[in-house]
Amino acid sequence: MGREKAGAAVLEDGSMPRPAACLFDLDGLLLDTEPLHARAWQEAASHFGRPLARTELLSLRGRRRQDCVRQVLGWIAETNSHPPTAPELLAVRQPVAEALLVLAKPMPGAEGLVCRCSQRGIAMALATSSSRDAVALKTAPHPWLALITARVFGDDPGLVAGKPAPDVYLLAAERLGVNAQDCWAFEDSPAGAQAATAAGCRVFVLAPLDLDACQRRDLYPASAELINDLGEVQV
Ligand SMILES: [Mg+2]
Repeated sequence: MGREKAGAAVLEDGSMPRPAACLFDLDGLLLDTEPLHARAWQEAASHFGRPLARTELLSLRGRRRQDCVRQVLGWIAETNSHPPTAPELLAVRQPVAEALLVLAKPMPGAEGLVCRCSQRGIAMALATSSSRDAVALKTAPHPWLALITARVFGDDPGLVAGKPAPDVYLLAAERLGVNAQDCWAFEDSPAGAQAATAAGCRVFVLAPLDLDACQRRDLYPASAELINDLGEVQV
């Protein structure tokens, strides 16, 4: 099973209890978009004279666009006495991102896991920091994602705070009429794993493969269950 495992509840017969629902992150979890997002942020920040370090790019993962913009503008302002405005930064970033994101492939095991949940009648929701428009763009080439009909977006009117706050997971569970504590959440980013953990979900983390064991321990909640591939998860 996983690279590391902590706190996995197992029934007497050795099986895991069935979740009330599965709540899925999108970017870097179901679709392999994170390298594409990173490239777009890198191009935009470099355009304004502030290339981003790998750790900085990792910290942007899982967060809403407006939260990333605020962070990147802060970094640019450290070295650029005339930093751009948010629209000026996005005018460079968005065309790069939009050209790349339509090319994103599914993460290994993602389509199979979503289809198994659907076949078994397990409720599903998308709990993403991406905006409604961005999700439409990214998911259009992937008809299997239409199986997930309940969706909470980063620009959702009902959402107060983005990841790492728990709100997106709490709202997703509420819309399915279940308790977040009875749900399984699937995440790849530190911010997202913090959000799902704070909401009380059982959290599976598909951590980026280039992180070593120490980095994983430092970046993700201790209770999260680390997996290598979504195909490992038995529902
Ligand atoms: Mg993610």
